[in-house]
Amino acid sequence: MPLSEFGLIARYFTGVGVARDEVALGVGDDCLLLQLPPGQQLAISVDTLVADVHFPRHADPFLLAQRAFRVTVSDLAAMGATPIAFTLALTLDRIDEAWLDGFSRGLAVDAKRFGMALAGGDTTRGPLPVITLQVMGAVPAGVALTRSGAKPGDIIYVSGELGAARAALAVLDQSAQTLSIDEQQWLHRYYLPEPRIDLGIALRDIASAAIDISDGFSADLGHILDRSGVGAVIDAASLPVATSLCEHPDALVFALGGGDDYELCFTVPPAQRDNVAALSRRLGLPLTPVGEIRAEPGLRLRAADGTVTAVAPTGYQHFE
Ligand code: ADP
Ligand code: MG
Repeated sequence: MPLSEFGLIARYFTGVGVARDEVALGVGDDCLLLQLPPGQQLAISVDTLVADVHFPRHADPFLLAQRAFRVTVSDLAAMGATPIAFTLALTLDRIDEAWLDGFSRGLAVDAKRFGMALAGGDTTRGPLPVITLQVMGAVPAGVALTRSGAKPGDIIYVSGELGAARAALAVLDQSAQTLSIDEQQWLHRYYLPEPRIDLGIALRDIASAAIDISDGFSADLGHILDRSGVGAVIDAASLPVATSLCEHPDALVFALGGGDDYELCFTVPPAQRDNVAALSRRLGLPLTPVGEIRAEPGLRLRAADGTVTAVAPTGYQHFE
């Protein structure tokens, strides 16, 4: 007997993740119900991944689920929100139980890891696979990190390393056995980015603005600059280029303009510098100062020899 829509939901998408007090009603009714403690705001973000556009159709479903989950959860990190629950809208061109099994296991592993419940969704048939995840988190009213608070004089920081996920695009179609150690690390970064949830929560009291790096460092910093009405100078030599790119000719280009790293870029008043250093030690995560916010609009790059050039905010855009 082929699996019905409801059989599929019961088998693969019921009880995924952890039980959360905030989820008063989960999978099985017309709506899910959330109950937040008084004084908390609900943070919601949704991301869609389309086959052949955002992921290769032959991608391992276990890894693909984790990538879909993590790129969406990263938006909660960027707002300083605590993860609670998520929904899944899944369009499939056919029912492939091995694929569904891998996909739901990948989701379950990460939902547990980030303490989230799969609380609802939609399952449909369509011409090509499309995965839409909506994540929900909580943040005390008024303290969410936004893109609009950067001030002249603030220091610009980046967490972790940049560029490796962009390098992975060239090797996505190669079989794992043929890859070098560096190439395997790029693929790892691409499929398993690390949403910086703990960092985002800790930055609620420290940062003036934040964004997660999904389109590319310069493009995403550009969003902070636009929303805050400021400019910036970046020191090229200080960018935390991924160590796996040390022999790559495009390392700096990838670090500046490549997307998919899902690190956080955030701005901090100079008086908070020591707190950021302490946070970096506590989290065991490099938090690298890469430049400074200026009143003069635009993004400028200072090279090692001191010359300053304007940077166009390059990054991935769907309609260009
Ligand atoms: P409705 O017809 O009322 O929109 P559905 O038949 O689409 O409801 O879904 C039935 C229940 O299963 C709902 O509670 C819905 O949230 C849940 N659901 C459907 N698809 C998924 C999925 N892929 N993952 C998790 N929950 C799902
Ligand atoms: Mg209904």
